[in-house]
Amino acid sequence: MEPGAAPECRLCSGEMRPFLDVDERFSLARCAACGLVSTRPELDEEAVGAYYPPEYYGKRNRRFHPLLERLIVVFRGRRARLVDRRARPGSVLDVGCGRGLLPAQLRALGREACGTELSEGAATHAREVLGIPVFVGPLEESPYEDASFAAVVFWHVLEHLRDPRAALRCAWRLLAPGGLLVVAVPNLESLQARVGGRGWFHLDVPRHYHHFGLAVLARLLDEEGFDVEEVSHFALEQNPYGWIQSLLNRLGLPANLLYAALKRDGAREVEHPVRSAPFAFALTLLALVAVLPFSGLLFTAELLLRRGGTVEVWARRREAPAPDAARRRP
Ligand SMILES: [Zn+2]
Repeated sequence: MEPGAAPECRLCSGEMRPFLDVDERFSLARCAACGLVSTRPELDEEAVGAYYPPEYYGKRNRRFHPLLERLIVVFRGRRARLVDRRARPGSVLDVGCGRGLLPAQLRALGREACGTELSEGAATHAREVLGIPVFVGPLEESPYEDASFAAVVFWHVLEHLRDPRAALRCAWRLLAPGGLLVVAVPNLESLQARVGGRGWFHLDVPRHYHHFGLAVLARLLDEEGFDVEEVSHFALEQNPYGWIQSLLNRLGLPANLLYAALKRDGAREVEHPVRSAPFAFALTLLALVAVLPFSGLLFTAELLLRRGGTVEVWARRREAPAPDAARRRP
């Protein structure tokens, strides 16, 4: 076995079979039993850490062009209002809270909110600039008391975790009865994933350990004691751009070049494409003009077909988790 390659499915211990080659280093494998798709080889936490350089969150914690940063704050405000509206009274835990923008917006609405985060740099921004309490480390090692939260949020986080079942089990324990669970993930069953193939923007290998389809995710939530209340395919923050970048990648332009250009100097792992790849960047801008109207059409189509490139799942903690086979396994 290749070092780091896990032999079996992280959810059900089923047999993993080849699914898609992504690049020279990484491929996807699919569980023959439950359908979960995972990245192979599976890197350990230390090896995957090399794919989150300090620049990942941006120097001085600004990742993108100032206009985009303004837009991100608007999106976080919308997200906070949705969580606030649906959660019962009580505090909110944002798992993988990054720079702490969501807890900050929740606080502005009068909610207690805190976060967990693996990046010390991002957590420092959350703590020192925004005053948000952050536990640095995996959720399973966090110090919170059982049943102490009205809502737990995994916003584009579950796919970054090696053992998503363990994290959801922990979330169940931390939630008060009737607590709200929010999970946003890329949707492998989407039109975007189908059209994008190995160039799908939201594949993000190897940072994403797993690639959920809605069916796999819904079953996992059910097994861990959650009732799904609503699935939203309307993700304005992720899906239109997902189309644009996936189509550009699909046209054979250098992968995610536009995305790199939208980041700030200092938040980019490479030089600005204008300097490092001026010809490819010019081609990308030309192609962008052609791709924009298609992206709009496809965004509408995925909404109508309920096959969004990323999905938001709103679920409620049941009184007792289902005594499924996975739970009984030692
Ligand atoms: Zn499986």
